[in-house]
Amino acid sequence: MKRMLVAVLAALTMLVTGCQSSTESGATKTTRKQLLLVPAEAVNQQSAQQYRATLIKAQRLRRLDTTSPDAQRVVAIAQRLANQVSVFRPDATTWKWEVNTIKSDEVNAFCMPGGKIAVFSGIIRKLNLTDDELAAVIGHEICHALREHSREKVSQQLLQQGAITLVGIATGSQIQQGMAALIGQYLFSLPYSRTMETESDIMGLELMARAGFNPEAAPNVWRKMAKLQGGKAPPQFMSTHPSDQTRIANLEKALPTVKPLYEAAIQNRG
Ligand SMILES: [Zn+2]
Repeated sequence: MKRMLVAVLAALTMLVTGCQSSTESGATKTTRKQLLLVPAEAVNQQSAQQYRATLIKAQRLRRLDTTSPDAQRVVAIAQRLANQVSVFRPDATTWKWEVNTIKSDEVNAFCMPGGKIAVFSGIIRKLNLTDDELAAVIGHEICHALREHSREKVSQQLLQQGAITLVGIATGSQIQQGMAALIGQYLFSLPYSRTMETESDIMGLELMARAGFNPEAAPNVWRKMAKLQGGKAPPQFMSTHPSDQTRIANLEKALPTVKPLYEAAIQNRG
């Protein structure tokens, strides 16, 4: 028992001291050491599967929108944002990025690990999003993927469930079927932490500025979101993305840092 405990501690020490920030810090200095124990390949594989299932379901219900003006806006904006990700992580330029719009009243959007983006028409319509505001939403979601927040939250969850599993990972043994199922189960059921939300807000702000979208639109999205909420039940996007004055204040505080990047970008676009 004692030997096992020592092995577990040794593996954990190696993992914890070996963990790093998933991205470069950028102008806004978004950096933090992350616990990324689960292999990225396993997370990305589960994501690709679930994304495919989402698209197939939407198609079956005739809700996959590839032609409307809004769907075209989503593609064009996501493309411009994805063109800027190398600042934070050069390897993301080789990801198989995908972007789709789904007809739904849901006020929601997501970017799964590996760059699989979906925007629900409800968020565009109900918030009457401008291009800059839509870029703030998509940019925020892209940064969850760049920062590997899903992989991190699954790693945290598995850590809580027992270190024996981690030794399996640490020693490079094959991921069992059960592990893949667990990753899939936790990937989208666990909410992001407040820290993760703040990181995506600030990094997303820089990403949109570099892509030539006015970053002042970002705090506006959250004002609109709060107004939409009124006294009613929060839309899904907000229940996992808590909005508050601190969030708006943090974004506004970062504006002076990203404004020059925005100005340079629009000058380049001519
Ligand atoms: Zn978020």
